[in-house]
Amino acid sequence: MAKYKHYNYSQNVLIPLSLSEQIAPGTLEFAINVLVEERMDMSRFDAKFKNDETGCRAYNPKILLKIILLAYSRGIIHSRKIERECKKNVTFMALSCWQEPDHSTIAAFASNLKEEIKPLFRDVLLVCEEVNLLGGTEFSLDGCKLPSNASMRWSGTFSTLNEKKEKIERRVAYMLEEQIEADRREGKDGSEETRKAKHIEKLKKQAARIEKFLQENEPKPGKQFKEVRSNVTDNESAMMTTPHGTIQGYNGQALVDSKHQVIVEGEAFGWGQDHHHLEPVVEGAQENMKEIGKEDNYFKDAILTADTAYHSTESIKKCEEEEIDAYIPDKDYRKRHPGLNVKQSSIDSRRRKFSAEDFTYDEAADEYECPMGKRLKLSTKKAKAHGIVYRRYQADPRDCEMCTVRQGCISKKGERGKRKLLMIPIGSESRNYSKEMAAKIDTDRGREVYPHRVRIVEPVFANIRTQKRLDRFTLRGKIKVNIQWLLYCMVHNIEKIANFGPEFAVV
Ligand code: SF4
Repeated sequence: MAKYKHYNYSQNVLIPLSLSEQIAPGTLEFAINVLVEERMDMSRFDAKFKNDETGCRAYNPKILLKIILLAYSRGIIHSRKIERECKKNVTFMALSCWQEPDHSTIAAFASNLKEEIKPLFRDVLLVCEEVNLLGGTEFSLDGCKLPSNASMRWSGTFSTLNEKKEKIERRVAYMLEEQIEADRREGKDGSEETRKAKHIEKLKKQAARIEKFLQENEPKPGKQFKEVRSNVTDNESAMMTTPHGTIQGYNGQALVDSKHQVIVEGEAFGWGQDHHHLEPVVEGAQENMKEIGKEDNYFKDAILTADTAYHSTESIKKCEEEEIDAYIPDKDYRKRHPGLNVKQSSIDSRRRKFSAEDFTYDEAADEYECPMGKRLKLSTKKAKAHGIVYRRYQADPRDCEMCTVRQGCISKKGERGKRKLLMIPIGSESRNYSKEMAAKIDTDRGREVYPHRVRIVEPVFANIRTQKRLDRFTLRGKIKVNIQWLLYCMVHNIEKIANFGPEFAVV
């Protein structure tokens, strides 16, 4: 017969625990502890506390920052979960010195780091520099779009939000009528009535919330002054297209140094298009380097790689102004590159589409006629894209919606959209930055340097999104979301210090 060890739950165990021994050298918690205690200037927080004469003692910001950084490194972003970890996880207990701040204290601390987050990020960056983790010669820029703490259901232009509000009000009016009718009838179901009354209250609150939003905000202007959708819950977030569908979210950007993949600048933007972000990120990085004692032109002659989403005249101009050796390919780069193996079928399918030659120009009306005999009217006299000046003609969406050949019609964007756009080039800007960049990328050096981007910046996002499990922002508003993004960037950099910094490395 098998013999097993006895076990008995009715016993008391006394385990001696040394808090300091739980924070072993070489671990991330050790690096967090040392950096917060010795390298970050935590006196910045002192002015926030007005309890020197009256009031109870506050939790030390060092303790709160340490547990938040440790929690983020383990993919724990919700303050209630962080609170639970401080009660049951021995590493959290050690790092918090057995203090148990509640979730509201943790949440309030994290969301009120507006003034302190950038200096704290720079403190960590300075340590990265001191332990020789920065190369300073090659950088890559990329971003990731993450959902915000706001529902797409509450998005829309001002007119659609107004319609939504009116629809809710009509629904409330209808339900109230129904309720009055039910009151007249005998044998009412009390619980049903209560449920309906609660629902009516909820709808009224929703309508009032939209009303308040419409009164307090202005429509958001987009490209060419066309209104873009606002969001009632978090109006600084935006609708963004991702490979996994459309989200309401923020775009977290990071500029990464190639030597050890340290993030030298991070910022979250409520704007999906990446090409708007190169300029502010480069300026932010310059500011950071200046603050840690580097020269003003730290990025001079440095290589900067970014993907096609950053390719714009403004981005290229900015890099040129800063004397940065930028490699930002245009959207046709892959097609021109023989080694990238773009599927021939996809190129062929694009070739089969109509081109501008298939459209007939009517000079008298200044309109084009499409192969199906429909008219495309002039919509923009002068539109600029990639250094070329165009005249833009648009088809009537009602014609295109029903068209049998719309799949093979012009413009990739229009293919999915409701109408087709015909862009007729009429000239170019005095200097075509886009073409110059395309020529630079097509050189042997361009083709050798640009692929570095993948190994420099992609692992950083893989680390933050997969290892640190950041899959959505939990705070609302750009400032708070930016705090959360920078905290993740800090955790990433601290991990680099823990792994590669000589003083922090595993012994
Ligand atoms: S999709 Fe529109 S523009 Fe294109 S051929 Fe059809 S009707 Fe004409």
